[in-house]
Amino acid sequence: MRLSGIFAARIWLMHTFTQYMYMENNTRRAVPLSGTYPVPQEESGTRSLCQECGAPVYGRPDKKFCCDSCKNRWHNRRARSSRLFRMKVMSALEKNYRILSDLLVRGTDKVEVSTLGQMGFDFYHITGYRKVRKSAEMWCYDIRFTVTESVVKSIRKVEYL
Ligand SMILES: [Zn+2]
Repeated sequence: MRLSGIFAARIWLMHTFTQYMYMENNTRRAVPLSGTYPVPQEESGTRSLCQECGAPVYGRPDKKFCCDSCKNRWHNRRARSSRLFRMKVMSALEKNYRILSDLLVRGTDKVEVSTLGQMGFDFYHITGYRKVRKSAEMWCYDIRFTVTESVVKSIRKVEYL
């Protein structure tokens, strides 16, 4: 099996670094590059790989990144994907709200579940849900509606103030 270039380079870097550590702890005696030799547990110091770049991480056992810039990159990416996810949810809710509002403007308070689905309504993105006997009461912001197996009915805007 062939290793990819990056993976092979990473293995080589780890190998070289481990060897350097070994030399430091053995009065800088030259150690052959190839061949096996024991690396004492405490002296190797390697506990995990950087979550961002995959380089070996040295130091505290719970350390996850090799440096601050890797740590920042990882956290920034995670914050970005969380923000994107929230934006998708918000736009799905907005779309649902627009569909329900349009129905109300046209004076419609009842529609087939399948028709609402065809209009692009997404039943997974609502702001409230309550089970009522054989149906469900749902909210999309201030619009409330009742959902049975085949029909969405009693669509109305709820006055909160
Ligand atoms: Zn790193």
